[in-house]
Amino acid sequence: MNGNNSLYEDNKVILEKINTIRLKALKHRKKYRLEEANRPVSHWIKEDRLRDEIGKEFTIILRSKGCSWGLSEKGGCSMCGYYLDAMNEDVSTTQLKNQFDFAYNKKINEIINDPHNFIFKIYNSGSFLDDNEIPQEVRTYIYDKISKLEKIKEFVIESRLEYIKTEKLEEIREFFDKKYLEIAIGLETTDDYIRNNYINKGVLFESFIGALNLLKEYKIGVRVYLLLKPPFLNEQGAIDDCSNSIKKLIELNVNSISINPLNIQKGTLAEHLWFQNRYRPPWFYSLFKCLKKSIRQENLKSIRILSDPSGAGTKRGIHNCLKKECESSARKRLQKFVFTQDLRELEQLGYECECKKKYQFTKDYF
Ligand code: SF4
Ligand SMILES: [Zn+2]
Repeated sequence: MNGNNSLYEDNKVILEKINTIRLKALKHRKKYRLEEANRPVSHWIKEDRLRDEIGKEFTIILRSKGCSWGLSEKGGCSMCGYYLDAMNEDVSTTQLKNQFDFAYNKKINEIINDPHNFIFKIYNSGSFLDDNEIPQEVRTYIYDKISKLEKIKEFVIESRLEYIKTEKLEEIREFFDKKYLEIAIGLETTDDYIRNNYINKGVLFESFIGALNLLKEYKIGVRVYLLLKPPFLNEQGAIDDCSNSIKKLIELNVNSISINPLNIQKGTLAEHLWFQNRYRPPWFYSLFKCLKKSIRQENLKSIRILSDPSGAGTKRGIHNCLKKECESSARKRLQKFVFTQDLRELEQLGYECECKKKYQFTKDYF
């Protein structure tokens, strides 16, 4: 894949560990019933930040065979437990279409009757552009249906870099001329060493630049996922890594940056380290520091900064001291910033918690 053998020389031990943990988790995981292949993993509608306004997202997560990278001998990424949601065996074209139709039919009236504009996101916990995960017939079936919905102004899919190829972009462009398209890429960090040795992503920054240029040619937007606090980084290291990445991506004129603070998913190396007390998910304070350090208000005229952390305020997700007021105030502050794209929201004095002192004392060590 995108790799270069020298990238993996330092992570052989990690790779072995990831594979051992995955095999064990797969042995104990629940077997999906046939009817579950006809239902998506989940789907929902909720408030979201669109490019020029606050609107709503309609999201569907398809249950596909699973991410090809995760199913390969390369073991998948060190924080990713999505393979446990996947079927791990072939899902037919009809089943994938049934999954989409199930969610679409349930929500279509709500979408049509809602006064807000929508962003549609379709994910499959892997790469939407990988034919082994989502066959062409399913992709075009979905493109056709979504392209006809006036209320949907933006359309987002996600893919690893190796599937972002001319023919796939031509295919999607055939269906969409007016809607804004964005492809989300899990770059995680602009640092090749961290990405490939601590995250085991198997992706080089130079490949990202190639994909970025190609997407610009097709006038397709780029959304980059950054992982806040990969395994083996302490809080300060995480702030530095994420803020350096944001600055670099702003210079490169990407369209959206979505910051994903690491959340502890089952069956992952991150969970293994967390059980051993060798990893703690990031503090909210670190996320705010990182945003303030790397973004100026004028940048937000041309780039959208997003973050909707899974498990926020719980011990497996980004959290401060777990006190209710402290977590809810941090969550609200983040959400307000994302919705308004106004950095002043990060300066608002919400609930001032005494845990900040503990954070300041420990951030260089843990
Ligand atoms: S994070 Fe993405 S690329 Fe990595 S294993 Fe999970 S689904 Fe695959
Ligand atoms: Zn607190």
